[in-house]
Amino acid sequence: MTGTETRSFGGRVLRQVTKVLPEHARAHNRSLVLQTLFHQGAMSRADLSRETGLTRVTISDLVAELISDGYVAERGTREASGPGKPAILVDLDREGHRIVGLDLSNTDRFLGAVLTLDGEIVARHDVAVPADREDILGVVTQLARDLVADAHAPVLGVGVGTPGVVDDRGIVLAAPNFGWTGVDLEGVLSRELGLPVLVANDANAAVLAEYTFGGAPDDVLLVRVGRGVGSGLLAGGQPMRGSRFAAGEIGHVTVGTDGGPECVCGKVGCLEAWLSVPSLERRLAVDDAGRDATLRDAGERLGIALAPIVGALDLSEIVLSGPLELLDGALAQATVETLRARTLARFHDGVQVRMTAQGEDIVLRGAAVMVLSGQLGVS
Ligand SMILES: [Zn+2]
Repeated sequence: MTGTETRSFGGRVLRQVTKVLPEHARAHNRSLVLQTLFHQGAMSRADLSRETGLTRVTISDLVAELISDGYVAERGTREASGPGKPAILVDLDREGHRIVGLDLSNTDRFLGAVLTLDGEIVARHDVAVPADREDILGVVTQLARDLVADAHAPVLGVGVGTPGVVDDRGIVLAAPNFGWTGVDLEGVLSRELGLPVLVANDANAAVLAEYTFGGAPDDVLLVRVGRGVGSGLLAGGQPMRGSRFAAGEIGHVTVGTDGGPECVCGKVGCLEAWLSVPSLERRLAVDDAGRDATLRDAGERLGIALAPIVGALDLSEIVLSGPLELLDGALAQATVETLRARTLARFHDGVQVRMTAQGEDIVLRGAAVMVLSGQLGVS
């Protein structure tokens, strides 16, 4: 795997996409083995060689190294179908390491979990969001410490999904709810815990959970509806961060030219003003008889906001994450109808709108994927 493929586009050579330098080849091959076992489960070294295209010798060598590092374990034998020795199976040691995940996106409580490498939650801790913003960093650090202490296995790393705009070094550039600007959350936590830490926006974490554990396709937008509205985006299986790390910040895009509800940001008709949980609940409380109409209206606004995104990126799926009783039904139905009416029928008619199956743990599980991906190259 030392290709130097380039893609040319209108005569302009784009960034090299598959170049693997020799010194990176080993790490790349290690990830390839781990990725194969992560998704396909136990297999023999011969199977691994066939699946990865690496030689038997390379596989033997890599598997020995991964066993000694505690990431891979032998798992008995499989009866040989013909003559010869039964094959020894190897698998990811899914119980051998733990991951700690934090979800700071809820309004009242910070959530935390200890997860297996399969994303199964084996312990939970949570703590009230402190009233004094000065205390937030300390409370988050202590929550992470308590989870690490409760892991009962080596911790591969700590993943954090937080509201706000987060750069590629885990610095929270802006999180108005916490009064944070330029807070090096990743740096503070990794110094305090002595572990690898990865921090991302909560919607960006959530879309990773949907991709790795929820079977989402390579081109998908996940919309999170809560106190605000945000989204996480994968294009070609890669997270999109944007030029200022604010990709997916669709909440304050104005929808339509006919005004609309007032938004906390001072504008009228922002997507968030139509769709956030507090805004929906406020309108439903005033007019419960018109419940379906209100939900359809919000769903239509979401469809209007998403149509150009679906068109530009040729997305195949929109996943919604938030309260089922509000999103699933009239609202999602109106969104899909609006999307279909407003995009190119031949290509985008099949765009799916569905609820996530990850429930309320989506950010915790996404935080685990950040660690798996960052530490093992698995996603
Ligand atoms: Zn706004």
